[in-house]
Amino acid sequence: MVSDSPDIKITPEAPVRAPSSVPVDDAVLPFEVASLDLRGRLTRLGPALDDILTKHDYPAPVGKLLGEAIVLATLLGTALKFEGRFILQTQTDGPVSFLIVDFQSPDRLRAYARYDARRLKDGQSSGALLGKGHLAMTIDQGADMSRYQGLVALDGGSLEDAAHEYFLRSEQIPTRVRLAVGEEWRGGDGGKHRWRAGGMLLQFLPKSPERARQADLHPGDAPDGTVTHTVAEDDAWVEGQSLIGTVEDVELIDPDLSGERLLYRLFHERGVRVFTPLSLRAQCSCSREAVSAMLKSFAPKDRAEMVKDDKVVVTCEFCSSVYQFTPHEAGVEE
Ligand SMILES: [Zn+2]
Repeated sequence: MVSDSPDIKITPEAPVRAPSSVPVDDAVLPFEVASLDLRGRLTRLGPALDDILTKHDYPAPVGKLLGEAIVLATLLGTALKFEGRFILQTQTDGPVSFLIVDFQSPDRLRAYARYDARRLKDGQSSGALLGKGHLAMTIDQGADMSRYQGLVALDGGSLEDAAHEYFLRSEQIPTRVRLAVGEEWRGGDGGKHRWRAGGMLLQFLPKSPERARQADLHPGDAPDGTVTHTVAEDDAWVEGQSLIGTVEDVELIDPDLSGERLLYRLFHERGVRVFTPLSLRAQCSCSREAVSAMLKSFAPKDRAEMVKDDKVVVTCEFCSSVYQFTPHEAGVEE
C-alpha cells in the first residue's frame, strides 16, 4: 500500500520510511534523483498484463513483444497531464505486422497484435518480429482538441531503440528506456504461468539546457573519413545511463522485489525520491452502444453485407468481446 505522505524520500542517511518490501503490481512509480537532475518512472505489471495477453492466447514471442509495447506505453502515457489517450502502434513488414496499445488516462489499458504464425521462428528478437516500418505515438485529448502524432522509423531494432531514437530526434531530452517481459511459473498452480513485465524510463532534465546536449546516436550518412562532431555528455547523465544500464531484466520483472527496493538498489548513493504510484488496470472501452453507433455510421450497403445467418456479429479486437445484433438492430433494411 501507498504511504499517506504525498512522496517518500529514500536516502541512505535519513529514510522517511524503509522502502516497501511489498511489491505493488500494475502501477507506475515516478521518481527523482535530484542530485543528478534525473527524473523517471518505473512500471511493474502483473495481473493487468496477464489478463490482456492471456485473453488473446498469443504465442509466447508475440505476447512478449506486445508486453514490451504495453510497458513502453505506460512509461510514456502516464506522463500526460490531462485527460486523454496515448496510443502506441506499429505497422511493419515482419511476422508481427501490427500492434496497438491504447492507454486511456488515468489508468485504463488495452492492446492487441496481428501476426502471421507461419513466420514465427524460435529465438526471434523483438526487432526481427517487427521488421521494417514505423512506430507511431498519438496523443488524443478528445474530439475538440488537436491530435499530436510522433513517428519513428523501425528498421530491425527493438522498441527500446525506437524510443531512444524518438527522444533524441523529437523531444531532444536525454532519455534511456528499459523494457522487460517474462513468464512466471508457479508450481502451486499446477504449473500455470503468468505474464509479468517491468520497465524504466530515465530522463536527464538539468536546469541549464546546454548540459543536456547529446552525442548523436548514429554518425548518419557522413562519408568515411569525415571527422564527426562529438559532444561530451554531462557527467551526471553519464552516471545516470551507467546506472540504468546495470538493471537486469530479472530485476524489472521480479515479483518479490518491490519497485522502491529496486530504485533504492540503483540510486541509494545519490538519494532517490519516490512519488505516489499511479495504478493501472486492463479494461476495454468497447460497449454495445459504441458498436451499434459504429454500425449505423456505415453505408447501408456495407451493413447489409455484414448479415450472416440472419445476424450481425462484431468482435472487439482489443478484448475479444462478441456483440450480436439482429439485422433490424444493425439498421439493415428488411
Ligand atoms: Zn473491447
